[in-house]
Amino acid sequence: MVGTEGVTIHPAVDHGVTAGSPSFSGGVLSCHCSSNPVKVRVGAQTAHNHVCGCTKCWKPDGAIFSQVAVVSRDAIEVLQGAERLEIVNKDAPIQRYRCTGCGVHMYGRIENKDHPFYGLDFVHTELSDEDGWSAPEFAAFVSSIIESGVDPSRMDGIRARLRELGLEPYDALSPPLMDAIATHIAKRSGALPA
Ligand SMILES: [Zn+2]
Ligand SMILES: [Zn+2]
Repeated sequence: MVGTEGVTIHPAVDHGVTAGSPSFSGGVLSCHCSSNPVKVRVGAQTAHNHVCGCTKCWKPDGAIFSQVAVVSRDAIEVLQGAERLEIVNKDAPIQRYRCTGCGVHMYGRIENKDHPFYGLDFVHTELSDEDGWSAPEFAAFVSSIIESGVDPSRMDGIRARLRELGLEPYDALSPPLMDAIATHIAKRSGALPA
């Protein structure tokens, strides 16, 4: 039995995962700037919400995981502060738009039309005051938290805590998403009929 006492993952799940609302239809994300924050409307419910251990996603202070979901890019609208947004890395597959004031990532966009997830933007719904966003379903890129400085000896406790929360830990994405990526690649290569 691995102890999970005191293991924290992300503030949105540390007290248990909150179910989403099937009738929820979106809300407004605000960055952490105290005056004139950047605001982004997400005009739809999100999907594939998960906690992510990669080193690229934005994480709140002290959290070892981010929480990130996807939504159709058509559903994203910058309401104010667009002039303060900058792309973290223009060469990355996901172009993450960060507030130059507080560093919070407001949305991540894929511009490569051949990318398996083209058409989906990545958002952190904890930046919204509204309740009802889709609940996190799994934990992605769990081993990658070591790259951020988490001691490898803590991994058993962290994976046990994720399972306790119902967030199955994977060291890449979840099997359905990995299958979707591989199917996209196989159809492009001709290994599967398009
Ligand atoms: Zn800001
Ligand atoms: Zn990530």
